[in-house]
Amino acid sequence: MRKKWMIMCVMMLFFLGVGGASASEVTKKNIYIGLHDKMLPFATGEAFIVNGQAVAPAEKLSRYLYMKQTGSPPKGDYTFEKGDQQLTFNLKTKAAFLNGKATTSAVTYMENGQLYIGIRWLVELFGFKVDYLSNHHTVRVYREAGAKLSNDQFLAANKSFFDRINSRPPTKGPIAYLTFDDGPSVHAASILKTLAAYKVKATFFYIEPNITKHASAAKQTAAEGHYLALHSVTHQVNPLYQSPQNFMNEMAKTNQTMKQVTGHSSVLVRAPFGSSPYLKQPFRDAMAKKGYRLWDWDIDSEDWRYSASSKARILQNIQAGIKQQKKRGDQHVVILLHEKKITADMLPQILQYLKKEGYQLQAYNPSAHIVQNFWKDARL
Ligand SMILES: [Zn+2]
Repeated sequence: MRKKWMIMCVMMLFFLGVGGASASEVTKKNIYIGLHDKMLPFATGEAFIVNGQAVAPAEKLSRYLYMKQTGSPPKGDYTFEKGDQQLTFNLKTKAAFLNGKATTSAVTYMENGQLYIGIRWLVELFGFKVDYLSNHHTVRVYREAGAKLSNDQFLAANKSFFDRINSRPPTKGPIAYLTFDDGPSVHAASILKTLAAYKVKATFFYIEPNITKHASAAKQTAAEGHYLALHSVTHQVNPLYQSPQNFMNEMAKTNQTMKQVTGHSSVLVRAPFGSSPYLKQPFRDAMAKKGYRLWDWDIDSEDWRYSASSKARILQNIQAGIKQQKKRGDQHVVILLHEKKITADMLPQILQYLKKEGYQLQAYNPSAHIVQNFWKDARL
């Protein structure tokens, strides 16, 4: 096993060496990151191998490792702290000090003003181990005490993560994400039937009491490969937005119930009534700290406001919205719908229209996250 791993590493270094020698431009190879027994939610392209080193955005990686990262870009001095360990380095000289003692030179990479840090360099100094699982393009960071699984077990346990990455068809043209709020509900069956007929996936934002009330709808939606996400317990401004703690508790409870009922948990949140104006900075800090993502929408179908006699307006609103998005050149369009009968009734026409306009319809994919929130908060 160990020998096989070494051979793969040698092959990889050879490959990178050849690539690097022929051209001055950098060759980047995408990687994913696991911590102990779980995959971290890094999107495709966020972490990569460059110049033979696996690097990740310093701020995000340190957050998942519960490290405090500070830096002063003009001088180029950076610090990582965890427990009583302190690692400092200078970006220009690469000189690094662990608890004040000189140590191995820093491995860094800058792109678009963002600091990327050598994963192995950083975590080994803090006492973690690192395995590179080259077949899965995955760097696994762990401590003996924190990891219960062998590498093979780790890959098996995270199969759904890798399946999602591999099943994603090569993207041609723009993507539309249909999102259905406030379920699960009695209308799920009809919505699922249409989605299956058009062979497309969507995203469902659930309210906690509805998950237990319509457990079979939730299970069926998950089983058919749609993405389940979080939309609170109370769905009321009070108590939901009274404090970041309230908000986080409601999302955690929704996640817990969803996991119990469907076996799936979620990283994606839609704030009831949209994230603006209620989801101010302290709320978003709390979300970012826990690794949650936040989705609002590009197009509001306003399906919540219509009755059976005016349901054609849902399609008209989407058509108007799509025209705007095309003008803007937006390649990722998130559309707000609800689990309602009139929405279920209009869904075939909506899908026909979007397909005709060249859109691929996809469910939310945590490993290909796109930022879509009214605050333009890039952490979420
Ligand atoms: Zn809602």
